[in-house]
Amino acid sequence: MRGFGTTIFAEMSELALSTGAINLGQGFPDTDGPREMLDAALLAISSGRNQYPPGAGVPELRLAIAEHQRRFYGLSVDPDRQVLVTAGATEAIAAVILALCEVGDQVVTFEPYYDCYAATIALAGATRRTSVLRFPDFAVDETSLRGAFSDRTRLVLLNTPHNPTGKVFSRAELELICSLAREHDAWVVSDEVYEHLVFDGAVHIPIATLPDMADRSITISSAGKTFSATGWKVGWLHGPAEAVAAARTVKQFLTYVASGPFQPAVAVALGLGDDMYHGVASTLQAKRDLLCAGLSAAGLEVARPAGTYFVIADAAPLGVSDALDFCRQMPSLCGVVGVPVSVFCDDKDATRTLVRFAFCKADEVLDEAVIRLSALAAHQARPTTTL
Ligand code: PMP
Ligand code: GLN
Repeated sequence: MRGFGTTIFAEMSELALSTGAINLGQGFPDTDGPREMLDAALLAISSGRNQYPPGAGVPELRLAIAEHQRRFYGLSVDPDRQVLVTAGATEAIAAVILALCEVGDQVVTFEPYYDCYAATIALAGATRRTSVLRFPDFAVDETSLRGAFSDRTRLVLLNTPHNPTGKVFSRAELELICSLAREHDAWVVSDEVYEHLVFDGAVHIPIATLPDMADRSITISSAGKTFSATGWKVGWLHGPAEAVAAARTVKQFLTYVASGPFQPAVAVALGLGDDMYHGVASTLQAKRDLLCAGLSAAGLEVARPAGTYFVIADAAPLGVSDALDFCRQMPSLCGVVGVPVSVFCDDKDATRTLVRFAFCKADEVLDEAVIRLSALAAHQARPTTTL
């Protein structure tokens, strides 16, 4: 694991803490999720559900996951054989990749990619082959995607809605990915943790709903984002029974089990009404608008995201040539922290001046961040300042 060092989230959260800067780096909300879910966790703890849960997850949560997939996407999932509860989506990703990949296999993914993808592929002894999504529209480039596949391709690791770009993959893009996966007899592992966080009427298309994909895909999600409970680490995966069994075998030796009393609480949350789900997306959309406007006013070029917690902005118009340096200086320049997108890339040049900001924060925090960011425009106005 040489070369993986400390994650950018740890570095930038520590920087925010030590400088008092507003942390728009690591993606976690600063307000709690639904009251019913929190109360259910309190009840689970006070009623003694504090020991190891079953390896596959508590039955009511597996049932709630299957029911959620039916309710929102019309998918038919067997809660006993096709669902596995994990320690967050992170463990689901690790369990699946370790289960499906042999040393020397290749994994196709898009870059920028969520940081644990590269690390987990390395842990499995597999090799990543990437296709670049380019600022500002982050469209899939068919030639580059085709070029990433080979006869060693074992799986495609997809993420829609996509961290860090905020892109929601279109049906045509997903169909292209699926047809290439079929051509190369590869699995598609789809990380859909932002499934409910989409804006402006954008539609999240689960990979398992595409023709013939239920048998060749594994879907991953998590309670962390939808229900503002990133610290609970309740995630899950579903897919064909034999692939889920293989992931369960690996998972036994990663954590065995986790998050006992939080599992029944997440089952309650998954069953909440449509209003709750719509409220989460519309509240976040307003926050996106607030931060995008502030970043534009500060002189950055913004790629308006269709989903997730994140917006990517180009700091090049401010005279920035290296976003990593810029992010390290941002606390002193303006009292705000973001993360440089290049750390999520093999091709650093494609994203050299891009910064990711998280908008999953209280409105007053975002208002203050926008005021602080305006200091960047003032720097830009002074031609002698180098960033
Ligand atoms: N996948 C993506 C794309 C993410 O952004 C994150 C972070 N929330 C995860 C997986 C990890 O999720 P969890 O915290 O549930 O492990
Ligand atoms: N998913 C979160 C993000 O992208 C961070 C999770 C972590 O710190 N590993 O910001």
